[in-house]
Amino acid sequence: MNRILLLQIILLSQLICACGQSTTNSTQDLPITNSNTMNDSTLPTNQELRQRLTAEQWYITQEKGTERAFTGEYWDHHEKGIYECVCCGLPLFVSDTKFESGCGWPSFFQAVKKENVKEILDKSHGMIRTEITCGRCGAHLGHVFNDGPPPTGLRYCLNSGAMRFVPSK
Ligand SMILES: [Zn+2]
Repeated sequence: MNRILLLQIILLSQLICACGQSTTNSTQDLPITNSNTMNDSTLPTNQELRQRLTAEQWYITQEKGTERAFTGEYWDHHEKGIYECVCCGLPLFVSDTKFESGCGWPSFFQAVKKENVKEILDKSHGMIRTEITCGRCGAHLGHVFNDGPPPTGLRYCLNSGAMRFVPSK
């Protein structure tokens, strides 16, 4: 019994030591960026986003705003590549799943991965819609509707200001 207890104490003290080390190694102002830490530690801070995003991008992603139809950067954009979250860089949609919806916002029928685009019931503005947010950082992206083309029948209606396009090489 005593040996087991001793072993537990040793293990525990090692754990505490390990934690202490990682804290002292990292600078105080920056989030810990070790690859073995959780995803949350690599997310941009509010302060960083304030500095990096345009007023429009901030309004859309952080205040659930909507850009005016036919004004965004990507509604009429046809290059091959990947559309990422403008805040955290998570891949959201690929150009192969983009289609002409005619609504004035970039539209896709499928997300890169289901877990990368989170769906939330939205009852604002007197409507019942499904809001979509970034699966990693929670940035507001737009809405998803059931009037899309085959094979999914979905229409992911995005704000250009919520995304950053990365052309394929
Ligand atoms: Zn994100």
